Amino acid sequence: MFLDLLNNLAITASFLFIAGKFFQNRNLERDNTVRIKILLGFGAGVLGTLLMLNSIHPNETVIVDLRHLAMILAAVFGGPIAGVLSGLIIGAMRIILYGVSGASVIAAAVTAGIGILIGLLALVRFPKILYKYLIMNLICIMAFSVTILYLLNDVVLTGKVLIYFIPFAVCGNLFTYFLAESIKKANENHRNIKYYKLLAENSSDLITTHQLDGTFKYVSPSSRTILGYDPDELMGKNPYDFYHPEDLSKISASHDTILDSNQDDVVEYRFRRKDGSYVWLETTSKKMSGTGIETDELICSSRDVDIRKKLENDLIDRNNELKRISNMDGLTEIYNRRYFDYMLSEEWKRAVEKGTSLSLIMFDIDYFKFYNDTYGHQQGDECIKEIAHVGKMVLNKPYDLIARYGGEEFAVILPDTSENGALKVAETIRRSVQVLAIPHVNSKVKPIVTVSVGVATVQPTKEMNHLQLVVHADDALYKAKNAGRNRVHFCDVESEETKDIVPQS
Ligand code: GH3
Ligand code: MG
Ligand code: MG
Repeated sequence: MFLDLLNNLAITASFLFIAGKFFQNRNLERDNTVRIKILLGFGAGVLGTLLMLNSIHPNETVIVDLRHLAMILAAVFGGPIAGVLSGLIIGAMRIILYGVSGASVIAAAVTAGIGILIGLLALVRFPKILYKYLIMNLICIMAFSVTILYLLNDVVLTGKVLIYFIPFAVCGNLFTYFLAESIKKANENHRNIKYYKLLAENSSDLITTHQLDGTFKYVSPSSRTILGYDPDELMGKNPYDFYHPEDLSKISASHDTILDSNQDDVVEYRFRRKDGSYVWLETTSKKMSGTGIETDELICSSRDVDIRKKLENDLIDRNNELKRISNMDGLTEIYNRRYFDYMLSEEWKRAVEKGTSLSLIMFDIDYFKFYNDTYGHQQGDECIKEIAHVGKMVLNKPYDLIARYGGEEFAVILPDTSENGALKVAETIRRSVQVLAIPHVNSKVKPIVTVSVGVATVQPTKEMNHLQLVVHADDALYKAKNAGRNRVHFCDVESEETKDIVPQS
């Protein structure tokens, strides 16, 4: 008897496996066509017939079969069409196999009727699929019980049949429910894997998975367009061999962040393509174990941001160039007045903070109006350029700064420089201009271009203002002019003491 039951369950299991394989790529509860419903009904009809043929014999007199399990499966997966069709087929087969008799016609009609009934029941939404199986099974048991009672017309005999039929039906029903559901789940997983693989493979972004040390485990086909490599060429390789050396520290910091947390991290870096060029990628990475999948792997999605990055870098370069230009004097290519004003206040603050002295030199070309009148404005421009160049060459400390203060007047900021140091620089400027020996026949000093230089030094304090330094340097310059030009004049801001430095030569 139990062997008979086992036989029935085995037949059902085989059918479920075959049907599961056959409909592996389709969600039967959602994407079902009439053709498939007919196929399901037909398949269930065959299964029901087989179950009918392999009836269970608990003893000499009682015979029961589990054909209704096939109808339940048909109704659950194929709805009313499959349910009804399976009922009709099994009913017809009942007559074909056991001949036309009153009992066989009634049994066939009841089978077909049950098929219709549970087919309609398939339209009802149940909170759980198990309830659907149980209710359908209950209806079948009840219908068969009434039929048996009617055919046998003997309550005791009917009871003897039902005592076997009901437990077998319940057992078979639960068996088909669990098996069908687990096959359905497995198929769902199979479809999900295919679905997400399809997404990864068709994404224009590069999808990769890595071992914890970074080694490529999976590489999506977009590696061909983004990196020029076939996925196979990268799998098993360590991506660190492909990163731009300048980005290594940034990438390894991001790598550490990902390993230490379950957060994702975004990093922009350059990856060496197969042709040797570098492409900018923006990669979002995450540890898989943080996503509910217990595997020691990293998943990364990388986007080609080459164009954006190059535009960004271009913009940064242009901005820097603009900034530089806005701080420079167009004629002399030394800093302009705007930048001088800014830097003087900066250096002033720094000197106040550090308690260091600050010196300022202002120098101006002597009798330059006459120079222009004699040699023309264009030649005058050339002269201004040469003087600016000389001034720039004289400076040798990295924080010293020369600017064109206006017209033919220049200013030099000397941070952390005492009176003596500033005077040395001032005298060097004066002498260097003289050494240039640019002809200036109408100068009242010498027949060459000369400059007068004013120097001021101060130990800045919070109470003072940086403009005081400019006033004193300018005052020293004015005094140098009045003292005969081509000379250096010094002014101490605090003591207001001035000195004329007589030119050495
Ligand atoms: P001083 O010795 O007192 O400085 O006499 P100076 O003639 O140099 O002074 P002044 O202020 O009378 O004249 C300055 C001249 O510098 C007048 C102006 O035409 C000329 N100048 C100012 N800026 C430029 C420039 O960019 N190019 C040229 N070629 N000349 C300029
Ligand atoms: Mg002048
Ligand atoms: Mg001037």
